Amino acid sequence: MPRLVMKFGGTSVADLDRIRNAAARIKREVDAGYDVAVVVSAMSGKTNELVGWVRESGALYDAREYDAVVSSGEQVTSGLMALTLQAMGIEARSWQGWQVPVRTTSAHGAARIEDIETQNLDAKFSDGMQVAVIAGFQGLSPENRITTLGRGGSDTTAVAFAAALGAERCDIYTDVDGIYTTDPRIVAEARKLDRIAYEEMLELASLGAKVLQTRSVELAMRYKVRLQVLSSFEDKPGTLVCDEEEIMESNVVSGVAFQRDEAKLTLISVADRPGIAAAIFGPLADAGVNVDMIVQNISEEGRTDMTFSCPVDEVPHARKALEQAMERGEINYHGLDADTNVAKVSIVGIGMRSHAGVAKKMFRALANDGVNIKVITTSEIKVSVLIDRKYLELAVRALHDAFDLEKAN
Ligand code: ADP
Ligand code: ASP
Ligand code: MG
Repeated sequence: MPRLVMKFGGTSVADLDRIRNAAARIKREVDAGYDVAVVVSAMSGKTNELVGWVRESGALYDAREYDAVVSSGEQVTSGLMALTLQAMGIEARSWQGWQVPVRTTSAHGAARIEDIETQNLDAKFSDGMQVAVIAGFQGLSPENRITTLGRGGSDTTAVAFAAALGAERCDIYTDVDGIYTTDPRIVAEARKLDRIAYEEMLELASLGAKVLQTRSVELAMRYKVRLQVLSSFEDKPGTLVCDEEEIMESNVVSGVAFQRDEAKLTLISVADRPGIAAAIFGPLADAGVNVDMIVQNISEEGRTDMTFSCPVDEVPHARKALEQAMERGEINYHGLDADTNVAKVSIVGIGMRSHAGVAKKMFRALANDGVNIKVITTSEIKVSVLIDRKYLELAVRALHDAFDLEKAN
């Protein structure tokens, strides 16, 4: 039998009515002759609630117990989905990550899938199981503890199963009807894309577009999974994430992404000597701080300022790691300035490879709206800037407008 993976996000399984709605979609595919692996998220809001409880229990919590707690939302929805399908006369069974098993690294809270053993599932499908309802987001560490794959990780569960099971497609059902030029909640004129290249989606996701977890796009690209994002509430075609060659026409800039909760940190007056960047960013990496942009100032009398950005909630870890490096005598600085009121806005497009002047147009559009740019980084297919958080929506709209993203060129 051909196989299909169908993933339902939090809003698509938010209550029993929605679970029944999703189940009706699954039934259609079963009736069409597919063996289906359904991947479910926790009910919307559930994971946030669980994370909140863990944080309340103590600031320095044990990451293994964090995973034991936050993985539980998916256990509930997988069981409820299996029950709902059974009530419709479908042979369905729930599977927790450890039961499959989905083998991951032991990086609790942000584990990576290493291997999915599909023998058990294969045997059950051969035995007449029509739908395997898999709890998304969960895995099993080499130490036999439950792990989770990072926020939004059910997307990655879905793509990894599609690759492991050799599924024809991986359909991601969510609360929007596809991938847009930017978050449609911020820009009402945002346009739905019929297709988007893996590489562009990878950049958009890693720069903040939470419609797909970054790792899921990476896996889809590597294993050539036909990945589709579509609405679980409306019957409309969604967006296909595919190879660049499968896209006939596209704009120079395909989308605008943003990350609201960034921080800008500046180490004031560090020695400008070989090895200083390694001495600063080594300890930060070891402390799990996700450093993004880095700028080193021009030096004066052998000393320089080093500026970098990271997520706001990692600032305390960054501060601690740098203070400890100073105590060990590895670095020496006169102060650490933390601006926790910044946000990052990025434009992405494979067309930038062959078009000059894209960055200039971006800076001009921001300047016209009086938005000051604090840090800039570029790569082949993206330009990112750090700005004051209070201008975030304004900047996203200005860029969407400047690049005419509401229109297909
Ligand atoms: P789910 O719970 O189904 O996984 P998410 O909330 O994780 O859903 O992702 C869907 C949301 O992603 C949308 O509601 C939308 O607000 C947001 N989003 C951000 N950027 C984009 C984009 N470029 N296109 C579509 N949705 C986007
Ligand atoms: N429930 C998890 C989260 O909210 C995983 C997911 O929904 O993809 O992050
Ligand atoms: Mg999600």
